[in-house]
Amino acid sequence: MDTTRNFSPPSAEAIDRLKAAVGPGGWTEDQEEIAPWVREDRGLWFGSATLMLKPANTDEVSQILRICNETDTCLVPQGGNTSLVGASIPIEGQHEIVLSLRRLNRIRDIDPLSNTIIVEAGCILADIQDAADEVERLFPLSLGSQGSCRIGGNLSTNAGGTGVLKYGNTRDLALGLEVVLPNGDIINDLKTLRKDNTGYSVKNLFIGAEGTLGVITAASLKLFPKPGDVLTGFVAIPHVAAAIDLLSRARQAVGDTVTAFELIPRIGIDFLCKHIEGSRDPLENQYEWYALIEISAPGKDVDLRTAFENMLEAAYNDDVLEDAVIAGSAAQASQLWRMRESLNEAQKPEGASIKHDVSVPITEIPQLIAEGSEAISAMIEDVRVLAFGHVGDGNVHFNFSRPLTMKDADFMAQAEKIHHIIHDIVHKLGGSISAEHGLGRHKREEIKRFKDPASLELMSKIKDLIDPNGIMNPGKVI
Ligand SMILES: Cc1cc2nc3c(=O)[nH]c(=O)nc-3n(C[C@H](O)[C@H](O)[C@H](O)COP(=O)(O)OP(=O)(O)OC[C@H]3O[C@@H](n4cnc5c(N)ncnc54)[C@H](O)[C@@H]3O)c2cc1C
Repeated sequence: MDTTRNFSPPSAEAIDRLKAAVGPGGWTEDQEEIAPWVREDRGLWFGSATLMLKPANTDEVSQILRICNETDTCLVPQGGNTSLVGASIPIEGQHEIVLSLRRLNRIRDIDPLSNTIIVEAGCILADIQDAADEVERLFPLSLGSQGSCRIGGNLSTNAGGTGVLKYGNTRDLALGLEVVLPNGDIINDLKTLRKDNTGYSVKNLFIGAEGTLGVITAASLKLFPKPGDVLTGFVAIPHVAAAIDLLSRARQAVGDTVTAFELIPRIGIDFLCKHIEGSRDPLENQYEWYALIEISAPGKDVDLRTAFENMLEAAYNDDVLEDAVIAGSAAQASQLWRMRESLNEAQKPEGASIKHDVSVPITEIPQLIAEGSEAISAMIEDVRVLAFGHVGDGNVHFNFSRPLTMKDADFMAQAEKIHHIIHDIVHKLGGSISAEHGLGRHKREEIKRFKDPASLELMSKIKDLIDPNGIMNPGKVI
């Protein structure tokens, strides 16, 4: 519980006013319906809520926030509830209301000529990708959770994913936002401009704020030409440093057509083959490390394939590469991506795991993985290290599975200590303890050890200014 604030249950009057603001169909007190929205999928965080509101439009969101502010009622904005840091779950004892944005799910406008789309916060990410595809455009945000996460959640966590290398994270894809402030005021800034130098960037306050400053109700976003030519390569490399070398060679050879570069360790392939249906070893022999590389360009480009193949051949001759395959069909390519995106899923049946979403300058990735693996292996014999992720952005998902013979609870009892060790190494190497998942509840205290004090103080002042009553997602981020 957030000890800086007094929490009491919402008054009967507040509840009645909130229900009236959204009308029948816009709220529920049914605990069976609410249950999946107050717990985290992996069972790491649980909360409760007596009321879940499901507004249908921005005006209803505005009324809700005005009432909450006047009646000192706290709320948690929620999209798909796929946060991995407990950001979207109410905290027990804080008597929060869940504000689900799921019904704000209209695509308000799509303009292929100006490469823009305007969407409501509750749109599922995959639906936005499909809408772009229908007009021969690409919305490049791509995450394992894209079938259930919502764009309001993606913006509020500044989500990353596999396309960051070329297209940037969600912040880079946002042109404008519509936001409801805690006092109910609506910021209308759904411009589709590429250039707008008119003072402070207000929209950027709400991107990555994890619902602590206001509610995003809609966004104007960038689209891109749909790639006509996509090459997906799966390569074996002798060590992690070779991945960094190979990425640099690929960029030198084919420029910014390198759209994704993902590192996968052998143990990841073992977990996939064991637990995920349809997974198989992509190469004939087994190797220590692999990279999944995607190259894409707008038109069919014979030279691109030749340049990519030549680069792989040169890397092989220089001992940077051990083996490689280029997917022969779209189905093969999506199978390789399915394997990459199922790594977390494949780790689940292996028992308790302790995870880190961290980033370092890419040249420090080999040191991070070597030093972190050694430190945790020295602490827990036979711990299984699964370090994978968006290496092209310096982002490693540095995960540890319990030793085969250890009990889940005994392993989890070491979680705090392991987090400290890994985060200290990350900090020493000039990195960040949260690359793309945010702080939520999970890293709210830990960030105080690492973030610049003046930045933390400014964040507190901004929070107090915009949300003076502290009604927005208390106990998260700050
Ligand atoms: C299988 C899997 C794979 C994942 N892969 C990635 C990945 O590759 N990269 C990555 O970055 N993340 C990843 N994630 C984490 C998660 O999917 C992202 O953080 C996602 O952006 C959250 O979207 P959501 O709609 O589920 O938000 P929620 O979980 O519902 O909410 C997240 C935060 O945003 C706030 N919020 C939600 N909607 C709004 C709104 N409209 N206005 C204001 N605040 C709001 C919530 O209060 C909360 O603080 C993954 C998660 C899973 C389960």
